[in-house]
Amino acid sequence: MEKVITVGRDNSNEIVIMSDFVSLKHAELIININGNIDEITINDLNSKNGTYKNGMRIQTTTINSGDRIRFADQEVEYQWLLNEVRLFKDIGEVSKQRYSDNFLKIKKTYEEFVEDINKLKEADNKRRILIQFTLSMIVALIGLILWIQFNVGMIVMLLSPMVGLLMGIVIKPNPKIQQDIKDRTKIFLENYKCQKCGRKFGTTSIQLLEAQGKCPACGEIWVNENI
Ligand SMILES: [Zn+2]
Repeated sequence: MEKVITVGRDNSNEIVIMSDFVSLKHAELIININGNIDEITINDLNSKNGTYKNGMRIQTTTINSGDRIRFADQEVEYQWLLNEVRLFKDIGEVSKQRYSDNFLKIKKTYEEFVEDINKLKEADNKRRILIQFTLSMIVALIGLILWIQFNVGMIVMLLSPMVGLLMGIVIKPNPKIQQDIKDRTKIFLENYKCQKCGRKFGTTSIQLLEAQGKCPACGEIWVNENI
């Protein structure tokens, strides 16, 4: 069975290439999904700026390992196209899953980051609470000794929770943990992106991305609403 995969600038294509020089419907790739999908035939769809194989403008040709394909000004390697084709070939088989593989990767990146940061913040909070608790206990103990020994110091003992609270304000977050959070955030912002087109999502939550259902840049469908 033949499968036609279109390439172009328009979001409706299976492979979207973001360049003003690429035609809306630029070319199509034809694969035999029952046979060897490495055998790709490429047809130019009367694109304005042409389809090229190893520098030669083509109408119809087969492409193989090592070939360089250019859609207008955008050159890609055969291997890249093959990977895209494989993704697409799989769509029929994996359509039973709610999320695209691409989206699952994005989701994993987000969830791991949130988990890491929460752990770090929790560790810092525990440390602060421990310091607060210890200090107020020391103050309470001093107050208790003063009270028992000299019948003074009741006030010191009563003040001990205040000391704890005050320390809570004074104790700075652990700079090492803060730096760790900063570093991890930086790496996260670098990796939190569409694995297909590279669009970065900044601090947009995964819930919001899921609600959008598709990549705002390349248009890949992330969520199969029917499942
Ligand atoms: Zn994308």
